[in-house]
Amino acid sequence: MRIGLTGGIGSGKTEAGKVFAGLGAFLIDSDVLAREALGSGMPGLRAIGARWPQVVGADGTLDREALAAVIFGDKEARLFVNGIVHPYVRERSAGIEATAPAGALIVHDVPLLFEAGFFRHCDANVLVVAPREQRIARLMARNAWTREEIEARMAAQIDPERARELADFVIENDGTLDDLRARTKAVAEILFRRNSMNDSGE
Ligand code: ATP
Repeated sequence: MRIGLTGGIGSGKTEAGKVFAGLGAFLIDSDVLAREALGSGMPGLRAIGARWPQVVGADGTLDREALAAVIFGDKEARLFVNGIVHPYVRERSAGIEATAPAGALIVHDVPLLFEAGFFRHCDANVLVVAPREQRIARLMARNAWTREEIEARMAAQIDPERARELADFVIENDGTLDDLRARTKAVAEILFRRNSMNDSGE
């Protein structure tokens, strides 16, 4: 079975993904692949650097903050970058998925699961949600971003209430990390059970 795991920035989806992986899921992290798409020497980075030379540092690597400054608040710029990153991530994800052991529960951690439409290709979609102010506080602590920078990033993502309507499972991350882990484990156990029923039904 293929599971989509998502949540807005700072919602806790990476922590939830670790729980799935710890229980034996085959985790594919789109963020890692998106970074790979714009790694030094990659065609994607060359295309972006040709348009915005300021986003490539003297050492030939992507300056992520400079790219963020270019794309947040500019929809056309964001679509241009997504048009480079998304096809790469899709292709690499499919390649990695093909290496999963037979019968594995495959979990795709995809920040833009609903926005990019990948949820339609998943057997079940899991959404992690957290109160807006808690997300802002965690991200300010982790990244040294300002509230304005965080709100701009949030505004570029799907409204969490709309995401709730599209998700099959919603994990509320409004307590401690241990609460999040326990709630994620409960959802994961359901999905592992369904996955093994699918296997034995074949
Ligand atoms: P991003 O898309 O920005 O990477 P994310 O949805 O993957 O965010 P995480 O990285 O899992 O979110 O969580 C954001 C930060 O908040 C991390 O430092 C994480 O350890 C912390 N965190 C998540 N949930 C909790 C919680 N319930 N209590 C305390 N800290 C938490």
